[in-house]
Amino acid sequence: MDIIFLGTGTSQGVPMIAQSAHVGGADLDLGNPKNWRTRTSAHVIVGKTHIQIDAAQEFRLQCLHNQIEQIDLFILTHGHADHILGMDDLRRFCDLRDGIALPVYSTREGLERVREIYPYAIRSKPEFAGYPAFSLREIPESLALPDGTIRHTLLPHGRTSVLGLIFEEHSSGRKLAYYTDCARVDSAQRELARGADVLVLDALRPTPHPTHLSVSEAVEVARDIGAGQTWFTHMTFMIDAQSHGRELPPGMDFAWDGLQIHL
Ligand SMILES: [Zn+2]
Ligand SMILES: [Zn+2]
Repeated sequence: MDIIFLGTGTSQGVPMIAQSAHVGGADLDLGNPKNWRTRTSAHVIVGKTHIQIDAAQEFRLQCLHNQIEQIDLFILTHGHADHILGMDDLRRFCDLRDGIALPVYSTREGLERVREIYPYAIRSKPEFAGYPAFSLREIPESLALPDGTIRHTLLPHGRTSVLGLIFEEHSSGRKLAYYTDCARVDSAQRELARGADVLVLDALRPTPHPTHLSVSEAVEVARDIGAGQTWFTHMTFMIDAQSHGRELPPGMDFAWDGLQIHL
């Protein structure tokens, strides 16, 4: 199993527009490429199946930078702009499937947002060659893949719920938990992630936020789950990869755009 972090930044991206006008921000070292973060999304490969989690505004560029050339199914964790607004560029992957609609999995609420934003793409085949086509599917409790399974849970995130995803690969026995955009991780969600070789977890910024985990909250959750390695994602400009990364406990670090992990 492999995970490629296509983007690791919060909804405004890092640095944000007019970053220098912001008063009171951290000393973000823009000479360090790890501090340039596009909006959060990831690409997971289980056996021969390529799964795309979310499509940020920079999705096309992320695909080019990371040589993403195949997507077999798409999972939308939730309908916020930074996770849904790149979906039109899935059109290229519909092309590569000979115009067979791409399976798009989400919650009922997430699928409703897809219908609202991309009504032209809800069809079994593209209207014209090069257009997108999405086959919308409510995510089942356990989604069987040729070489593994994807289970899910719901994470609290303000007025919405976010799909937390658990990937397991049959051949390697490896387990990956992907928990982005969450205000808390309750005991049932922690149990589901236990035994993960890799945990990916929301860690927005050093200070508390009503709908995201802060770094210290994320560290507490990561310690409790006890994954082999925890990678934090969805960071704001308030996190400097090097200076804040040094303060993290062993086995935890801030992910960066383009990071690839083989499990
Ligand atoms: Zn987000
Ligand atoms: Zn969100």
